[in-house]
Amino acid sequence: MSLLNHFIARTLPFVPKGIVRRVANRYIAGETTDGALQVVEGLNSRGIRATLDILGEHVHTREQAHQAAEEYLHLLEEIAKRRVDSTISIKLTQLGLKIDSRACFDLADRLVRRAKELNNFVRIDMEDSTCTSETLRTYRELRRSHSNVGVVIQAYLRRTVDDACSLEDLKPNYRLCKGVYVESREIAYRDMRVINRNYSYLLEKLLRNGSYVGIATHDELMVWEAFRIIRDLKLPATAYEFQMLLGVDDQLRDIIHAAGHNVRIYIPFGRDWYAYSVRRLRENPQLAGYVFKAMFK
Ligand SMILES: Cc1cc2nc3c(=O)[nH]c(=O)nc-3n(C[C@H](O)[C@H](O)[C@H](O)COP(=O)(O)OP(=O)(O)OC[C@H]3O[C@@H](n4cnc5c(N)ncnc54)[C@H](O)[C@@H]3O)c2cc1C
Repeated sequence: MSLLNHFIARTLPFVPKGIVRRVANRYIAGETTDGALQVVEGLNSRGIRATLDILGEHVHTREQAHQAAEEYLHLLEEIAKRRVDSTISIKLTQLGLKIDSRACFDLADRLVRRAKELNNFVRIDMEDSTCTSETLRTYRELRRSHSNVGVVIQAYLRRTVDDACSLEDLKPNYRLCKGVYVESREIAYRDMRVINRNYSYLLEKLLRNGSYVGIATHDELMVWEAFRIIRDLKLPATAYEFQMLLGVDDQLRDIIHAAGHNVRIYIPFGRDWYAYSVRRLRENPQLAGYVFKAMFK
């Protein structure tokens, strides 16, 4: 990343929200369910799957947590009604994890139960490291009664290999990503070479153990590693899928899909766009150019 990009990424909190919004538009499918479902339909018509995320995290009250669950229940109904190929992705802090973990579990359980009735699937996103243990515990508990739920693990965390070992008996449906939150060096690897080695080590381990893996990356090197592992293990295309974020590298998405692999796009939408947008912009190698263009438009 260039020095200027690095500087702008660090000072993003001081960039006016209007500019952040303009630059981050590419990553978000608008504010409404209808708009987001139109994006899903467009992707489905090209043979690409979706997972929908209603933006929002770290709610402050039980009412907000209930409201978020209601919105997800409505979304599940709309997905079924419009017969689109999309799962949902949820964040446990949006369901009140930090307020009352028992009540959060009950809300997650309701979503997974309704998803099962509608023949759908719930993915639990992974948030910052203060949520990791509780998220994995919730996942394990949900798996006692449901199979249509999956979880995310992050290759940058030092603990992740141990977590994967301790979940081995469940053969979880995983999404494997590098990890996006700012973590201390004690908790997360900082060196991208190590994160990449850990990513391919984990991917091979999970697939060998029979887990279905959502290979979530836009990094060509990790995609190459995935191709290598899939070939070595002689895996059918039903044993994994590639996952990418809306607005990031459509060309790579199409290359992977044209090579015969399933691809799912993560589609966030809703009013609470700021935190997600900042995380995405910080990773964009063209951030500085985009911000300057938006400022002078
Ligand atoms: C489907 C999906 C779900 C995810 N869910 C989670 C989650 O639950 N928890 C979590 O911590 N993280 C999640 N992430 C984010 C992930 O952890 C990484 O932060 C992010 O994907 C960037 O890592 P990378 O593997 O693409 O590699 P990188 O090395 O970061 O990026 C590789 C290349 O991709 C391109 N690129 C990456 N990001 C951007 C961007 N924002 N804009 C433009 N170009 C970009 C650049 O060309 C870059 O050089 C998810 C990612 C995906 C794809």
